[in-house]
Amino acid sequence: MGVAAVTIAEGFQELHLTFSRKKSIIVSSAKDFAKRIAAMLKEHGYHLIVADEVRDLGIDTTCGKTRSTRVLKSRITKGTKRAKRVRVLASFTKNPAKLFSTNLWPVSKYGATVTGLSPSMQKQIRTFATAAAGGRQGHCATTTLALQLAKDKDPAILYPISVVSDWLAFWDSQPQLHQELRRSWHFIRARLRGTQVPWRDVRGPIGTCIQVLSDLKWVPWHPDQWREPEPSPLAWGYVSGASPFPLFQAITDTVHSQLCATASRHFLGKGYEHGVDMTVAKKLTRKAEKLGDQATVGLIRTVATASFWPRQRKFDCGLVHSPLCTRCGRQPETSKHRYWECEANDLIGHDAITNSEYLRNEALRLADTCPVYWLRGLQPIPAAELAAPPPEDDDLRFVGGGIWSSGTYYVDGSGGTFASDPRLRRCGIGIVKLRYFRCTTTRLTMGCSDRCLASARPRTALSSTRSSP
Ligand SMILES: [Zn+2]
Repeated sequence: MGVAAVTIAEGFQELHLTFSRKKSIIVSSAKDFAKRIAAMLKEHGYHLIVADEVRDLGIDTTCGKTRSTRVLKSRITKGTKRAKRVRVLASFTKNPAKLFSTNLWPVSKYGATVTGLSPSMQKQIRTFATAAAGGRQGHCATTTLALQLAKDKDPAILYPISVVSDWLAFWDSQPQLHQELRRSWHFIRARLRGTQVPWRDVRGPIGTCIQVLSDLKWVPWHPDQWREPEPSPLAWGYVSGASPFPLFQAITDTVHSQLCATASRHFLGKGYEHGVDMTVAKKLTRKAEKLGDQATVGLIRTVATASFWPRQRKFDCGLVHSPLCTRCGRQPETSKHRYWECEANDLIGHDAITNSEYLRNEALRLADTCPVYWLRGLQPIPAAELAAPPPEDDDLRFVGGGIWSSGTYYVDGSGGTFASDPRLRRCGIGIVKLRYFRCTTTRLTMGCSDRCLASARPRTALSSTRSSP
């Protein structure tokens, strides 16, 4: 040890390093060892402080001895304050949520892949993200972020992706350490599995990656081999230097399905189980923003995010004494009553109400089954559509009758690979034959090509590999 201290001291002299007595600190997993080194360096004129933890390049460091989150927590607190200021900016800028992606998130995530954000910290970041996005009381956070941020920019998705991305980058950059990293991975995984609150024992990037994947119900067997949550049979093996994007997409899908499950339990969330299509809500919002119609923008966001409070909801939360509708005074004002049932709606005389009157009976019948569609205006994504594989050949089916007799046929089609709206990239063709006073329809539908199916993830085609164990 004496030789080591002399070598270090000589190195300091050669490099002409200047020491700050307050900031020069020795941290070691064995404190006695650090004390002895400090004493030896003192003999050479270098005064270093022995401590349990130190802030190194803005990251809490303890040499893996304990978990320290002091710096990380202070950064999150600062982020929360910034988010409040961003929210004020909502009055002056069209999309204050952009400031989350460009400012709040980069600041908050610094060091988070090393020290690790516990679930409560992740929740704090998501809370200030929704605050920056203008989330209102009682809103669905998943919908608010999906409406305001770009696709897959929810911090619940960004964080695990950044952890895995940083880990794979480190793995790629240190091939000489792979054997040692494998040993450490298995040791740390066993230690985390043996504790009741694993996050208290996460001390570095390996533990962070293991625990983030475990929280998502992935099985992190090895540093480069992981398995998707049950009941998926898919396992992933990362090949050094390969593109990690198929793997990122699989992790994104896992988080997305968990977020949708949570959103489906929110107020009027039934129907959200497999996600919702935000296209229409986003289009309407953009259109209203272009026209400077901020009232409509606010209305769309309020309805879509379920941050409206009919009397029944207020009553259930103890905010009012009676759930009765204040307009008609006859029934409790549920969301269904407010939008579709109340006879006072007839007196409003707005085009939106008049033009959707023909839907009233169907809405009353189905509103309880799928409130996310009938009461929030969000189109649910059916599970079957997400799982549907692309057809190998064009899928042509004749519906309706008959033989292709001579006559006049009218043809129309929609969609295609280059359609601007991704939802229309499944081609559809309709052929109608008309007769005098009689309409005979012969419909023909055509399936999409493999490029058109957004949900068909080309995992195997890319560099990462998968297998079924
Ligand atoms: Zn009423």
